[in-house]
Amino acid sequence: MHCNHYSKKVMTEQEVTSILKNKGICPTRPRVAILKYVYEHFTHPTVDEVYTQLAPEISTLSKTTVYNTLRMYAEMGLCSMLTINERQLVFDGNYKPHAHFMCKTCGRVYDVPNADEIMQNFSIPGHQADEMHLYYKGTCQSCLLKQERI
Ligand SMILES: [Zn+2]
Ligand SMILES: [Zn+2]
Repeated sequence: MHCNHYSKKVMTEQEVTSILKNKGICPTRPRVAILKYVYEHFTHPTVDEVYTQLAPEISTLSKTTVYNTLRMYAEMGLCSMLTINERQLVFDGNYKPHAHFMCKTCGRVYDVPNADEIMQNFSIPGHQADEMHLYYKGTCQSCLLKQERI
């Protein structure tokens, strides 16, 4: 169970810009950089992580901008926002329904590939579901291995 099975997607600024334009969003430099980051890193980054990675290139960037932009993208369906742990909001550029595993020891969020089919075929008669969240919590493999060594 590891997020690395999703090969890193590389997107050009033009591709990201046209995604934003199609949604009617003005493609400012921070907006393009933020969306490009979440689409290229399926690591479930927090606002702090995105900010720390992009701040050196965009001197005007603030954490508030990162937070507001990511929330807007989540509301528009461009990425998803995971609230598995209320103190650690994470964002996911892979917006197709998929299950997650959150490690209670290190806080990392992993994708669970084998639940994709169940989630895609699940529907509630009479209702229209726009989002679906399925998650597991526990101790990840790398934390278990560390514990064994102690
Ligand atoms: Zn862990
Ligand atoms: Zn994910």
